[in-house]
Amino acid sequence: MSKRPFDKDLFKRSVVYNVKTLYRTSIEEATQHQIFHAVALATKDAIIDAWIATQEQMKKQDPKIVYYMSMEFLMGRALGNNLINLTYYDEVKEALEELGCDLNVIEDQEPDAALGNGGLGRLAACFLDSLATLGYAAYGCGIRYRYGMFKQKIENGYQKEIPDDWLSDGNPFELRRPEYAKIVKFGGYVDVEVDQNGKSHFIQKGYQAVRAIPCDLPVVGYGNNVVNTLRIWDAEAMNTFRLDAFDKGDYQQAVEEENLAKLLVEVLYPNDNHMAGKELRLKQQYFFISASVQEAIARYKRNHEDIRKFYEKAAFQLNDTHPTVAVAELMRILIDEEGLEWDEAWEVTTKTCAYTNHTIMAEALEKWPIELFSRLLPRVYQIIEEINRRFVMEIQNKYPGDQEKIRKMAIIYDGQVKMAHLAIAAGHSVNGVARLHTEILKKQELRDFYQMMPEKFNNKTNGITQRRFLLHGNPLLAQWVTDHIGDEWITDLSQISKLKIYADDEKAQQEFMNIKYQNKVRLAKYIQEHNGITVDPRSIFDVQVKRLHEYKRQLLNILHVMYLYNKIKEHPDMEFYPRTFIFGAKAAAGYRRAKLTIKLINSVADVINNDASINGKLKVVFIEDYRVSNAELIFAAADVSEQISTASKEASGTGNMKFMLNGALTIGTMDGANVEMVEEMGEENAFIFGLSADEVINYEQHGGYNPMDIFNSDQDIRHVLMQLINGYYAPQDPEMFRDLYDSLLNTNNSDRADTYFILKDFRSYAETHAKIESVYRDEKQWAKKALWNTACSGKFSSDRTIQEYVDDIWHLDKMTVTLPKEDTEVSGKKAAK
Ligand SMILES: *Cc1c(COP(=O)(O)O)cnc(C)c1O
Repeated sequence: MSKRPFDKDLFKRSVVYNVKTLYRTSIEEATQHQIFHAVALATKDAIIDAWIATQEQMKKQDPKIVYYMSMEFLMGRALGNNLINLTYYDEVKEALEELGCDLNVIEDQEPDAALGNGGLGRLAACFLDSLATLGYAAYGCGIRYRYGMFKQKIENGYQKEIPDDWLSDGNPFELRRPEYAKIVKFGGYVDVEVDQNGKSHFIQKGYQAVRAIPCDLPVVGYGNNVVNTLRIWDAEAMNTFRLDAFDKGDYQQAVEEENLAKLLVEVLYPNDNHMAGKELRLKQQYFFISASVQEAIARYKRNHEDIRKFYEKAAFQLNDTHPTVAVAELMRILIDEEGLEWDEAWEVTTKTCAYTNHTIMAEALEKWPIELFSRLLPRVYQIIEEINRRFVMEIQNKYPGDQEKIRKMAIIYDGQVKMAHLAIAAGHSVNGVARLHTEILKKQELRDFYQMMPEKFNNKTNGITQRRFLLHGNPLLAQWVTDHIGDEWITDLSQISKLKIYADDEKAQQEFMNIKYQNKVRLAKYIQEHNGITVDPRSIFDVQVKRLHEYKRQLLNILHVMYLYNKIKEHPDMEFYPRTFIFGAKAAAGYRRAKLTIKLINSVADVINNDASINGKLKVVFIEDYRVSNAELIFAAADVSEQISTASKEASGTGNMKFMLNGALTIGTMDGANVEMVEEMGEENAFIFGLSADEVINYEQHGGYNPMDIFNSDQDIRHVLMQLINGYYAPQDPEMFRDLYDSLLNTNNSDRADTYFILKDFRSYAETHAKIESVYRDEKQWAKKALWNTACSGKFSSDRTIQEYVDDIWHLDKMTVTLPKEDTEVSGKKAAK
């Protein structure tokens, strides 16, 4: 990896100059926040030449471009990551020290770019990092939400949602590009005009329109001068001045368009794996998709003649069904604006589009009422009707007389537009995100589609970027790894297997665990500052951080903590290795049971943490506002990673991989990518428990199981469950946790009881936790397994995932970007002179 030259004095002068021009102050007088903005601008200066050079290379080489279309990009903070990928991090740290500043403190001033909920959005962010690092031309296409994922406050144990005003001080890395604005039209009706040749033209009339303005964020590749673009669209009213135009009679229209523009990009929907079905959400989808597809076509036409070959230079990857309207929008533009015949347009569209499935859970599948769809997007809906008509004919040809197939597979059926069916019919690739997930898609959820078009189905096991989650998040371990095997792991994580030879080396084990200890001290300090709870870094740090969802089973975890506490109380002298159970999770604002689970965790924490009689053997911490920036600290400090979803429900998981990379041992079910992790590290180096996916699916197909049998036969479980309704953790309101109790035992509601098999898996989970305790007591054995986990994590780099997408789906060309000679230093010379 060639190291770019860095002019430290120039960078320092640039920071001092920026503080002066931005804030009319000196570096000594400036606040940390002001210094952050000055450093970010100096960093942007360093990025901009490579950003321009990348665009120049794209002009020259004309590579195929992937447009990664996603409603969510969970980017986190940019400054530290940009410095890491510029390979300037250590030098900038040193430069700032010479100015009397601490880079860590400065990084902490930056708000997270939280334009996503959880795994799906973070995957998109990791993919952009890998695409740039591998030298592929890529655009991330998304929405510039005015408010991102809400900030979480815990008040009296309850989650409170605070708007995430992340743009209040501006975004120093953002470049607004009004010259590339696009117009997006909603509503109205379709007029048909027949020309002299008898050809029909479809014209949308009486619509509302907004202007989509691209805002570009740089995506820096690691040490290779490649800078790709995350293009997020802002919305503006078409004609603000018309607000004064009473006399023109379009005042009403102007006000409505103004409101629409503001509302469209106002806020990210905070639902993970759940479809709320709100009209505004569909508008958001069409807004950013229409703008992105228009721009992709405009870019192509700047230097290509034949739109029929568009797919040779562009690939659209649809991150879940949220961007699926892209297939109809592409058809619309090709037919209505580019004049292609249906079959020509269809060939271009299918060769361009590919779909990634992220879940098999019914409540997450997107279906829109015909009424809503056709009212909001009349022309797009016509096109989907025609796609459906032809698709149904295909089904009939393949399965003559089989009405059942049509009922199950049609794109439009029973008054609804089924977005997954549209994505499958109109794309050339359908991929799941872990092997088990893809197999379940093929055998269960999408079986009919797989039987009809098996060639479209493929697996792309998710990955994570080691640049953010090891090199940046865990600098001590990163340095240690580099000291032992060199630094090639940074861009080729398969190299990390070279650490395997150190697994039995006692010195290496000690160093490894010493680094873990220092990271635990760092997290303990964070917890002390943010929660006011003192935790012992010598205790086992057992961590579950992820979105709060019933299928992820935080309830199983906290019930087990309650069980352990009962044991300690019953047997005060029993052997017990001190443990700290750490939770972090946001619940969707309208998800009552999830929010009640947060309250339960905090109530249990209150009782346990304040019980002096247990001598601090057990602590429970709920970390407020779990997000990418504090995630980096958390993964580095974990001994145990909780990946305990009901088998078959977690499509892949990526948190599991971040823990493994950082040397935590997994307690988990055979679900999602856990299966492949265990394959890499060996079953003896993980703690696997519970029902298999096949067993869960089998129970589900036979009406579930009866949790009362367990309640009646297992005293410990009964004890814990009774504590949910006898006020043990809520003396002032014993009924507080009744709904959680009912969800497990179904005493007075009509849902099936314990849908997520929590009680069914409880014993197996508790026994496995007991094994964790005994292995941890053997320091060498634990150290060996922890080190081994890190050494086996090579497969789970998003670099590997992206290379598979490139080879099997996108077929992109690699770019090499070199900077013109005079631009190879950090600029700012002009500024500093
Ligand atoms: C990785 C990550 C996730 C996904 O975690 P899972 O355990 O795979 O659900 C969610 N949120 C943040 C902030 C992450 O970094």
